[in-house]
Amino acid sequence: MKTTKKRLIPRPGIETIKAYKGGKPIEEVQRELGISNIIKLASNENPLGASPLALLAIKESATKVNLYPDGSAYYLKADLAKHLDVTEDHLILTNGSNEVLTLVGDTYLGPGDEVIYSEGAFVVYGLVAKIAGATPVVVPMQNDIHHLSSMATAITDKTKVIFIANPNNPTGTMVTAAETAQFMAMVPENVLVIFDEAYYEYVTHPDYSQTLPYVMEERNFIITRTFSKIYGLAGLRIGYGIAPTSIISTMDAVRQPFNCNAVAQAAARAALKDTDFVEKSKELNEIGKSFLYNAFDKLGLRYIKSEGNFIMFFVNQSGAKLVEAMIEKGVIVREMKDYGYPNAIRVTIGTPNQNERFIEVLTSLV
Ligand SMILES: *Cc1c(COP(=O)(O)O)cnc(C)c1O
Repeated sequence: MKTTKKRLIPRPGIETIKAYKGGKPIEEVQRELGISNIIKLASNENPLGASPLALLAIKESATKVNLYPDGSAYYLKADLAKHLDVTEDHLILTNGSNEVLTLVGDTYLGPGDEVIYSEGAFVVYGLVAKIAGATPVVVPMQNDIHHLSSMATAITDKTKVIFIANPNNPTGTMVTAAETAQFMAMVPENVLVIFDEAYYEYVTHPDYSQTLPYVMEERNFIITRTFSKIYGLAGLRIGYGIAPTSIISTMDAVRQPFNCNAVAQAAARAALKDTDFVEKSKELNEIGKSFLYNAFDKLGLRYIKSEGNFIMFFVNQSGAKLVEAMIEKGVIVREMKDYGYPNAIRVTIGTPNQNERFIEVLTSLV
């Protein structure tokens, strides 16, 4: 590693963090391989693009980008409050819902605090804990699902925060309402529980937990949701947290004053109104899910049933190698070694054409 003349030492814990490995831009892969019709099913993006209403709002707001955004996200917050049936002071708007997670670290965590999350959970939870110098406590999953009772058992008097992704990425599994209720009864009142619901709008399972009551009961509880997935605005970076007013006002003081850009705020307002687009996205996801389950069955590949817009499946070889081979044939999917699954791949559910192409390429390689 190159260093400056006098090497700067980061805070304790920082050097244990590995940089997030994103894929190359599609354009670059196309150039390298000399092909032009690459499909990317690697980041759980909406294959329909964004709502036409959002695209229009983006164009209109683009004429005003010389102005700073509304730092309070006044109108978007009002729309969301109505949509969720909460008051504005239960909401914080952020630069992607990931920023709610980092704000939790910036606001509540420090050395000595323990942060509980599940093995095979979203990578950002560990990142937040390590940046803050807190101690990650990683609890094993059971059947590829967060095991809430083990997570509750891992609580000590040092536990400050518990992160739960529901449904989880990359496994696509969810915890039920009953499991959540049992868990919340075991969690001491002083521990902050975060339910990351990035895929909330995709869930179809009847036993999915509705977590808003925990916020309304003034538990130390934060729900995170996003415009990156079903609303198709991942590139604009906008998400939000729902929490008791005292938590919101504390985190509001910590966030950057202009954390949500003006174009993103305008697009999110329009996307929220376009219920047709959300419905269509959900329908397409269900159709694609059945198609892919069926195709995996035919190929004899094990997969995990998903409540999100992606499916994790298992192959009889290195997932990383197979992903490499698939990319060479123009289909980008994600290897799962970093999540503890060396023989698994995660595929985002695409359009019917994309799903067929993905299965064609997969079939030629397994
Ligand atoms: C995609 C995803 C998010 C969304 O992050 P944004 O910052 O809102 O784009 C959050 N949590 C999980 C588990 C995800 O998979």
